[in-house]
Amino acid sequence: MTTNDHAKRLQERGLRPTPQRLAVYEYLLSHRTHPTADTIYEAVLAQYPSFSRTTIYNSVKALMDAGLVRVVTIDPLEQHFDGNPADHGHCRCERCGQLLDFEMPEDLLAALVPEGFSVQQQDIFFTGVCKACQASFA
Ligand code: ZN
Ligand code: MN
Repeated sequence: MTTNDHAKRLQERGLRPTPQRLAVYEYLLSHRTHPTADTIYEAVLAQYPSFSRTTIYNSVKALMDAGLVRVVTIDPLEQHFDGNPADHGHCRCERCGQLLDFEMPEDLLAALVPEGFSVQQQDIFFTGVCKACQASFA
């Protein structure tokens, strides 16, 4: 996907594709690490030193409101952001802090919630210790 495609995607969602929004969106698409707003800001700043913190934060929010980016509320201290808005779950490693994705089959979700309940938002997560951390702390 080119920057042009990304700009189109923003426009389809009613968002003007400003350079700041595009920079944030492209950072999130190319970094599937679920960064915090601060991390996004620092990274984007390295490329575009003139962008302000407020503008970057507002860009994250605009992308979220447009449904292109989702927030991951797994970390009690900070919000993390995800360029993949599709339904999926997360695992958080309590040692290294990384957030890992996992698929959420729709039929599994349906089996979990009360019958007839219409899910609007789901945020399913597990905490634990990732494979690499288990190996290095063994
Ligand atoms: Zn870990
Ligand atoms: Mn994710």
